[in-house]
Formats: sequence, C-alpha cells, structure tokens
Amino acid sequence: MTVHLEGKPVAEAIDAATRSAIAALPGGSPPPCLASVHRGVDSPFRFYLKRQAKAAAALGISFRDEPLGAGDGPAELVDHLAYLDRDPGVDAVLLEHPLPPPFNFYRAIAALRPAKDVDGVGTDNLGRLVAQSPVQVPAVALAAVEIARHYRLPIEGEKVVVLGRSETVGLPLALLLAGKGLGLHATVTIVHSKSKDLKGALADARTIFSCVGRPGLLTRAEVPQGAYVVDVGVSTVPDPVKPGSSKTAGDADLAGLEGWAGGVTPVPGGVGPVTVAKLMAATVDARKLLTAEGPR
Ligand code: NAP
Repeated sequence: MTVHLEGKPVAEAIDAATRSAIAALPGGSPPPCLASVHRGVDSPFRFYLKRQAKAAAALGISFRDEPLGAGDGPAELVDHLAYLDRDPGVDAVLLEHPLPPPFNFYRAIAALRPAKDVDGVGTDNLGRLVAQSPVQVPAVALAAVEIARHYRLPIEGEKVVVLGRSETVGLPLALLLAGKGLGLHATVTIVHSKSKDLKGALADARTIFSCVGRPGLLTRAEVPQGAYVVDVGVSTVPDPVKPGSSKTAGDADLAGLEGWAGGVTPVPGGVGPVTVAKLMAATVDARKLLTAEGPR
C-alpha cells in the first residue's frame, strides 16, 4: 500500500505551535508582520501571495502586500528592501524568486538583515546554513524535512536522494538532510540536469526529495519499490478532465507509483501547505530574533 503523505496534518501541527508562539509574545506586542515583495500583477508569485495572505490572517499575523512600481528596476528594489529592513513595523520580508534580468536576486536580498530575510535565501543565511548555525532557513526545505519527520520516513544513515540543486530549494534541503544541525544525518546524493543515470542514482534510495519542476519525471521505472517520495516540484499542466483548463502537478507520477512506492506526497496538498505554515512560523521567529537583537 502506498501511503499518501498529506501536508494538512503537518501544517496544522506547525500552525498550532505558531499560535502558541504568538500568544507567548509579551503583552501589548503588535502582531508579527510579514511583507511580501514582488513584481506586481504580471508576477507568477501572485498565486503564492494569496495563500500567504490567507494563512497570515488565520494566524493573526499582519500581512503587507508590497508590489514594486511599474517602472521600478534593480535600484528601486534594493531601496525598497532597505526601507522595509529599517521599518520597525515589519518583522519579516519575503522577496519573489526567481527574478528575471536585470534584477539580481542576491544583490537585492542583501539589503535585508538575516533575521528579516524570512525565507533564508540571502547569502548570509545560506552561509550560516553551511556552518550549521542558521538564522532563517528556506521554508520549502524545512517543509520537506517536517513532512519526513512527521511520517517518520527513513532518513538517518539511509540513502536519501535530492533531485535539484537550486540555491533556494534543492541545495539547502540537501544541506539540512546531510547536516548535523537538525540531527538528520542522511547519506545524501544530489541529482541535477547533468546527472547521467537517474535510475542508477536512485537505486537503493529509501527516501527521494524531488525539487525539479518536471511532471512525470519519477515513475515506477526510476523509483525503487517501497521508497518514499517527497514531491516538492510544482508545475502547471493541462487538465485532462476539464479540456482548456490547467491544474498543478508534481514531479512524481502519482497514479503510476500507487501500490509501488512506500509513500508519496500529493501535489497539490503535500509540501505546499507545509511551506506556507513554515513561512508563518519563521515570521514569528523573526520577531523574536529582532527583539533579541535590540534596536538598531
Ligand atoms: P529551479 O531553480 O528551476 O531548479 C530546478 C533544479 O532541477 C535544477 O537544479 C536542475 O538542474 C534540476 N533538474 C532539471 N532537470 C532535471 C532532471 N531531468 N533530473 C534531475 N534534476 C533536474 O527550480 P527551484 O526554484 O529549485 O524549484 C524546484 C521546484 O520546486 C519547482 O517545481 C518549484 O515550482 C517548486 N517549489 C515548490 C515549493 C513548494 O512550496 N511546494 C516552493 C518552492 C519551489 P540544474 O541545476 O543542472 O539546472
């Protein structure tokens, strides 16, 4: 039997802890505030924005939608982030990524202090992750780890494969899995677009984290029988049930892996809701970190 590794119970447990953390803030504290910076109406990020706003409202976190102006370029983006970094009413800032040229994501996000870089994607936070002393960690990587922990997937000392090596998803996840920081101690193989033998790389894998964005990449032919798949990939594909419309899909061939894999996270409904829950938790963490830092 293939277990459906649903994100909902994992997200609910994280949200419960976030509510407690908010309730434990000193009396009279304003609600923690998350500001989400993006390129405006044309941005694919706007779908993620709606989920952020909804999750924040449900938890009592204040949410600021911060679109760039129509003519804003890289310099204006840096100025805007620097302004949010100085704003004492903002605890956490999320910057849309990836950003198209001429924007330079890393140059822009450097305007934020590590505590406010809520998705942990700036070079300061990524460097701290390598040093096993992170301030903020990419929410999607933490979400994948939380799912593995919740469902007690085989990780410690086991062969674990991460597909994808982006600086914001695959690499941080591989670091968390292999590192000592969270006590995960996996034996990690990283696979990417230049890897020659996907099936060979996945042989004997107990748990596979797929962070590619290629629907149907993982089928019975590649996934060892009984292995678990945490599917981080999100793609838009035509909906066969409703001609002319589209739906989201992960990297795994969910139907084909049924009865073969030990467990698979569905897309949608797997890593996505847990990522949003982790983002909200990190917003509260940001408040605590900033309070500990004291005024600038
Ligand atoms: P990305 O920057 O496009 O990176 C994709 C990675 O996949 C790259 O490292 C690429 O290798 C690798 N790759 C491409 N084809 C491959 C193949 N055939 N076999 C193995 N690896 C292959 O994407 P990303 O930002 O890391 O995001 C990855 C996926 O996660 C996307 O689908 C994104 O939508 C999704 N995502 C989900 C959440 C969530 O909450 N669920 C959050 C963020 C992102 P190279 O490095 O060689 O190009």
